[in-house]
Amino acid sequence: MSEYIASIKKWCEEVLKNYDESINTLRDNVSTEKLDEWKERFIQFKEELSVEESLQDQDAYNRGSELYEQLQSLLENDSESNHTADERAEHSWETVPIGGHTLPPLPYRYDALEPYIDEEIMRLHHDKHHQSYVDGLNKAELEIQKARSSNDFDLIKHWEREAAFHGAGHYLHTIFWYIMSPNGGGQPSGDLMREINRSFGSFDQFKKHFSEAAKNVEAVGWAILVWSPRSRRLEILQAEKHQNLSQWDVVPLLVLDVWEHAYYLQYKNERDKYVDNWWEVVNWPEVGRRYQQAKQLRWKAF
Ligand code: MN
Repeated sequence: MSEYIASIKKWCEEVLKNYDESINTLRDNVSTEKLDEWKERFIQFKEELSVEESLQDQDAYNRGSELYEQLQSLLENDSESNHTADERAEHSWETVPIGGHTLPPLPYRYDALEPYIDEEIMRLHHDKHHQSYVDGLNKAELEIQKARSSNDFDLIKHWEREAAFHGAGHYLHTIFWYIMSPNGGGQPSGDLMREINRSFGSFDQFKKHFSEAAKNVEAVGWAILVWSPRSRRLEILQAEKHQNLSQWDVVPLLVLDVWEHAYYLQYKNERDKYVDNWWEVVNWPEVGRRYQQAKQLRWKAF
């Protein structure tokens, strides 16, 4: 079994574990028959992964994420037809349960972004660093839940920091994997391109601004392209570290990891080169989809 397939299999096990843990709540809301059918298909898929050479890496990812989406739409459709909005809000199984975050599978092989980002970096970055953010976030959420139920908030500052640190790490890395692609690079098109021109003057001016922001992040952190629902413009922010958000109330669209672990094995201290090369793996259609979703958010303009 390839290591990539092994990581997909591990993800399947996590999904099934979460599924089993919330099954009693699920059964109140979705027909048992549909859920059993889904679980059977998912287990069958997981078993296929163990059969040598039965699935190509990319097919395994596609099948897995398709099944995962099926489960989510099964739950959403059912909840829309049978429950009011207030009732839906009470059914927390539609959200990630407290302490139930999972590492998303990498949507391409570990070596898919070469030569721009090495296989070794991707394996370390996704399997070790991102996993530790997931574990840390789950632990922090459970500890904060414990604090709420015991009404003992003596360590809340510590756990809130942990939740911010690991939560930002988990959410930003999840975006990061998807806004890159082996077929990436080039320029965006359509609405996103029009908005970039409107907000920054031109794509070149935007790219220069974003690169300079990334290269000049103090120590570790991220460069982040955001849509501001308040100003109704795109903006570029620097996040030093990532628990210290320099701006709230924004939706990340394009993020670039400039923590050393993202590039050091390959580029040593040449972050600039890494930043310049990284543009070759940007998945613009995914960034465009994120923008389309994010721009639905509108607040009163001030
Ligand atoms: Mn990272």
